[in-house]
Amino acid sequence: MGATKPKRIVIVGGGFAGLYAALEFEKGLARDPDIEVTLVNRENFFLFTPMLHEVAASDLDMTHIVNPIRKFFRRVKFFQGEVESVDLQGKKVMVSHGENHHHHELPYDHLLLSLGSITNFFNLPGLAERALTMKSLGDAIYLRNRLIRNLEEADFECFPEQREPLLTYVVAGGGFAGVETIAGINDFIREAVEFYPHLREENLRMVLVHPGPAILPELGEKLGVYAQRKLAERKVEIRVNTRVTGFSGDGVTLSDGTVVKTCTLVWTAGTSPNPLIQTLPCQTERGRLKVNSDMGVPDWPGVWALGDCACVPDPEGRPYPPTAQHALRQGKVAARNVAAAIRGGKKRRFVFSTLGQLAAIGKRTGVANVFGINFSGFIAWWLWRTIYLSKLPRFEKKVRVALDWTLDLLFTKDLVQFTTERATTVSHQEDERRPASVVRNAAATTK
Ligand SMILES: Cc1cc2nc3c(=O)[nH]c(=O)nc-3n(C[C@H](O)[C@H](O)[C@H](O)COP(=O)(O)OP(=O)(O)OC[C@H]3O[C@@H](n4cnc5c(N)ncnc54)[C@H](O)[C@@H]3O)c2cc1C
Repeated sequence: MGATKPKRIVIVGGGFAGLYAALEFEKGLARDPDIEVTLVNRENFFLFTPMLHEVAASDLDMTHIVNPIRKFFRRVKFFQGEVESVDLQGKKVMVSHGENHHHHELPYDHLLLSLGSITNFFNLPGLAERALTMKSLGDAIYLRNRLIRNLEEADFECFPEQREPLLTYVVAGGGFAGVETIAGINDFIREAVEFYPHLREENLRMVLVHPGPAILPELGEKLGVYAQRKLAERKVEIRVNTRVTGFSGDGVTLSDGTVVKTCTLVWTAGTSPNPLIQTLPCQTERGRLKVNSDMGVPDWPGVWALGDCACVPDPEGRPYPPTAQHALRQGKVAARNVAAAIRGGKKRRFVFSTLGQLAAIGKRTGVANVFGINFSGFIAWWLWRTIYLSKLPRFEKKVRVALDWTLDLLFTKDLVQFTTERATTVSHQEDERRPASVVRNAAATTK
């Protein structure tokens, strides 16, 4: 008698939803030798997005907010690769990886789709080519490098008119990501400028562009207006009821017709669910995969969707918001429902009420609404740090972040640019009579 084939569970996407589903399997189903769980993710790490702006603003070391996925698991298998397509009919996922992007097929009995969302530029002219984004670790490192590069260039820029675009920073989007990004940039640049003898604080300009009447609409008008006032006191210009309409690379055009001279636009004003979802023969709502309240995809038994890419209905039938606190809880419930589907048992509906929302707005101040109570100022900032530090996975990273924050009290922020350029080389094929030509390696990449 042949051994029974193990049941294969494949999770695509190792963000909040996918990682927490895999952690739930690690504790339960994955202990069963007849069950094989594989988590596929583009990066080999899990990114803790709520602290991303702290990397861009040089508050935290860039690897302290990410955790290598392998360190979470002993039983769940990890596959670093790019999910190219999903064949629901054939029950397999096509993944490419490696230097030559060779392909693998991963067959499954249960598939969890947790691919998150991507930035959407809404076809605004010049944005896709030139705007910076704040979604990945690479984005935060890129932005930090850009800030430092601009300061270095502006310090020795002979023409004052060319300094202006280098020292002006525009962030589009007054939600959490945009507000925390402009606040972080503002603190960082204003502190850094003292090390650049040809630059003055008066040369700096920070602009936050928001389409609504008040920033941070998720926190209500009162906290939004408070955050606006605090940022304005720190010389951040806030343009409410205004949209970005284009970016030429040296100027951002706004919906009121003004042009802000800048070479740095950070776009946080739009996201869309992962485009792979649109390729599936399933119903979607605003690009999110429609699922039942237990996160099962209708008409496709064994297929589940969760996190930002899924439209999970609340008890009133409205979709839950795309946040980390929802995604990670959906991960746990979805994993338990898969276990119930395999072993027999009752599947649970996903029911959760937002516990609170917090934003850091710079200079040790914040705004927060926790269990319906509003907080602002230092206490909100302290809550932000305490709550997110407790949520950051793994003790090692908690200690590293806590140390970074402590050392921040003693030292000024680091101004070192992070480059991935190879050292200068010289070719050994050179004709010895000619002066040695020094070459920069063509394959080098610098951001
Ligand atoms: C700057 C920023 C700050 C935020 N702050 C907060 C906050 O303070 N509080 C809060 O609740 N929420 C916050 N959010 C929102 C939160 O990050 C998301 O709601 C959450 O990450 C959604 O989890 P997810 O698992 O659905 O998607 P994600 O966490 O985005 O994970 C998706 C994963 O899928 C992988 N992936 C995508 N496509 C492929 C592919 N083709 N092949 C392989 N892998 C792929 C990605 O690499 C990623 O690891 C923030 C978001 C950002 C960008």
